[in-house]
Formats: sequence, C-alpha cells, structure tokens
Amino acid sequence: MDRANRITHVSTNDCFASRKKGCSALKFKACKDCSFYKTTDQHHKDQAKALKRIFSLDKDVQDHINETYYRGKMGGNSYEG
Ligand code: SF4
Repeated sequence: MDRANRITHVSTNDCFASRKKGCSALKFKACKDCSFYKTTDQHHKDQAKALKRIFSLDKDVQDHINETYYRGKMGGNSYEG
C-alpha cells in the first residue's frame, strides 16, 4: 500500500487490526493517519511474504525466529527440522 492511501483512508473498519473494542496491533486505536493501516488482504499477503523470507534462511536462524517471535509455533510446510 502506498503512503497516499494510508494517509487518506477514512474508514477504520476495513483495517486488519480493527476490533470492536480497539486495535489488535497497537495499544490505542487512533486510526486517523495511522501508518500501520492496511487491509486484511494486504495483511495476509505481507504475512505470506514474511514467512517465505524466513523459510529461505538457514535452519538455525529459522529456529531462533520461531522461538523468539512465534513461541515455537511458526507454521508452514517449508520449515524443515
Ligand atoms: S489504529 Fe491503525 S492499525 Fe489500529 S485499527 Fe486503526 S488504522 Fe488499523
């Protein structure tokens, strides 16, 4: 998503992190001009891209990332132990 779309978005309900009681990504929901805004579709694409990048790394690095950021539950079928 380009910077212009992030800055000019006005609807908060279409953000991937928008919840009834707040924001699942940030401590406070303040959507106006939020630089973390993206659609759910874009969020899923970004997640897939990140996993693809992680799976391209050495196994030791994958293990470190898995334990540090995914609590040992990083998914995907490219991960080979
Ligand atoms: S605060 Fe930002 S990340 Fe959170 S729901 Fe609003 S636009 Fe999305």
